[in-house]
Amino acid sequence: MIELTGVHKSFGTLEVLRGIDLTVESGTVTVILGPSGSGKSTLLRSINHLEKIDRGRVRVDGELIGYRQAGDKLHELGERQILKQRAKIGFVFQNFNLFPHLTALENVAEAPISALRKNKSETYERARALLGRVGLADKADVYPRQLSGGQQQRVAIARALALEPRLILFDEPTSALDPELVGEVLDVLRDLAAAGTTMIVVTHEIGFAREAADTVIFMDEGRIVEQGPPARVLDNPRHDRTRTFLSKVL
Ligand code: ADP
Ligand code: MG
Repeated sequence: MIELTGVHKSFGTLEVLRGIDLTVESGTVTVILGPSGSGKSTLLRSINHLEKIDRGRVRVDGELIGYRQAGDKLHELGERQILKQRAKIGFVFQNFNLFPHLTALENVAEAPISALRKNKSETYERARALLGRVGLADKADVYPRQLSGGQQQRVAIARALALEPRLILFDEPTSALDPELVGEVLDVLRDLAAAGTTMIVVTHEIGFAREAADTVIFMDEGRIVEQGPPARVLDNPRHDRTRTFLSKVL
């Protein structure tokens, strides 16, 4: 589903990704852990074409979206193909990023209608069903400011699902939430995982990683330091840096 090979990315002189190799199989949940600044968001953004890589290859869903060797120019898809690819990848951000002037239902229906030119009444019907799926059937006509953070994030997840993505990237989906609201969002992620959704989740929620992940990855300073099944990485880390990190977040 996703294959990254030798991916490098710098911002000026700051090397943020230093040779990332990563494979994600369809239908699996990958949880990425790692300290702030280790390159987790940049990695997700590279998969979704929000960052252009400096070196390496990124392949998503069988399609080579970008590659470059040292000194070579970046070979990547054209703008139209990039937009098409991006529509297949859902992205859920830490800060929900809902449109404040649209209702919950309109937020969910917006992209299929405006970007994919889908039929309006069918899209609204589907959007209603998706709000039901995240437990917000009764909030369809409410504006984001009238919703709690947890509810807003669940709308954002329904909005990502509305594009019927092949893959969903979550960048710290619960980090901006009050502690008592974290559980309701993780419950939605668990449901998606159980339904076989391919997901990459950057989170510090170790309990979620333990239950829901097929693979846990620990990143530090732009590298994947370790990866494996949750029980192995979380209970038996091989590297000191993983151990130190886990002792801080557990
Ligand atoms: P993480 O998500 O693990 O906290 P990021 O991928 O956001 O890490 O950032 C990794 C490093 O790259 C940080 O030092 C950050 O300040 C830097 N960085 C991220 N995006 C940019 C950017 N657009 N321009 C310059 N530096 C950036
Ligand atoms: Mg980040």
